[in-house]
Amino acid sequence: MTEEKLASIFRNSDLNSKRMPGKRILVAGGAGFLGSHLCERLVHEGHDVICVDNFSTGRMENLRDLSRFETFSFIRHDIVNPLELPVDEIYNLACPASPPHYQADPIHTLKTSVIGSLNLLELALRHQARIFQASTSEVYGDPHVHPQPEAYWGNVNSFGPRSCYDEGKRSAETLFYDFHHQHGVDIRVVRIFNTYGPRMRADDGRVVSNFIVQALRGDDLTIYGDGSQTRSFCYVDDLIEGFCRLMNSQPAIQKPVNLGNPGEFTVRELAMQIIRMTGSSSKIVHRPLPTDDPRQRRPDITAAKRDLDWTPGVALTEGLKSTIAYFEQQLSRADGEFVE
Ligand code: NAD
Ligand code: UDP
Repeated sequence: MTEEKLASIFRNSDLNSKRMPGKRILVAGGAGFLGSHLCERLVHEGHDVICVDNFSTGRMENLRDLSRFETFSFIRHDIVNPLELPVDEIYNLACPASPPHYQADPIHTLKTSVIGSLNLLELALRHQARIFQASTSEVYGDPHVHPQPEAYWGNVNSFGPRSCYDEGKRSAETLFYDFHHQHGVDIRVVRIFNTYGPRMRADDGRVVSNFIVQALRGDDLTIYGDGSQTRSFCYVDDLIEGFCRLMNSQPAIQKPVNLGNPGEFTVRELAMQIIRMTGSSSKIVHRPLPTDDPRQRRPDITAAKRDLDWTPGVALTEGLKSTIAYFEQQLSRADGEFVE
């Protein structure tokens, strides 16, 4: 991180600390899909927010509305390299989340989860900052227990194409608990189930964005395998609400907590729903099922309900409506080509 960048953050932060009573919060991965929604929420709550992102899958466009706030700043930085900033809280969302993106450079994906988390935990330790880890339902792998409660240890391949992500996130959880037990670091760990919404990239590669973009373009919808595998889809606003409840939980909830929408759909049902809602004439085609693709996934959210009084409120049709509207706008803004 250059001294010039640091100086600009401190300038902003000094100004803001005189004006705002808020905390100074670092969001790693803040230029991505979930991170940009989280930054927005935190800025609107009156905090000084510093987004740290290497822009590998994140986009400047996601930060456009935030850039007019004096209380928001960003640094282009890869968390695999150490960083030093005085902060009160850290949210670690930095990691590519879509299979094609995290598999493109698996070594860097693993380094991001392990070395990146280590760097952020050391930062938290130096500043007595609370730190939040965006873990994942992928820690359950291809689960033998259904739905998945937090107590389930999972069924994960250590050397397949998904391992860089799954094992990286599992190791990151281990590091979080080791820093908590060995050094008393104040941690929060959320296990996120498939989440969708505006600001996903058109070329993200995950199923919801793929199907919507294909339907709007009139292209074939690509179902991998026979489409009988299931997922549970959570709308982004519900998830961000859960993040904030967990981070601010009193008494502190320091065990991992599942956040996701327990509504469970087959991939084929999702494809049909999107074709119906877009009025598309697209057809369905089948492609090979990727290696180690989980057969089923649905969160057990008993803990989130009990400890955070959290349940998702946005039904799939409602969430798809605004996500489709977002991609329609992207398409029309670019005169027939999506803004990537
Ligand atoms: P995303 O790809 O849109 O966002 C990830 C962000 O992290 C991007 O802005 C990217 O540029 C940044 N990044 C990646 N590696 C980095 C590095 N080494 N240093 C700095 N920045 C880096 O994905 P998302 O869907 O917003 O996911 C955010 C987090 O939530 C990820 O950690 C992901 O594993 C987790 N998660 C997401 C989902 C989901 O359904 N969206 C599910 C489970 C877990
Ligand atoms: N999928 C699909 N077509 C696509 C993209 C994904 O059928 O164009 C399937 C994928 O094989 C998986 C499910 O949809 O079974 C969810 O995939 P996604 O990449 O969104 O998330 P993850 O596999 O990480 O849950």
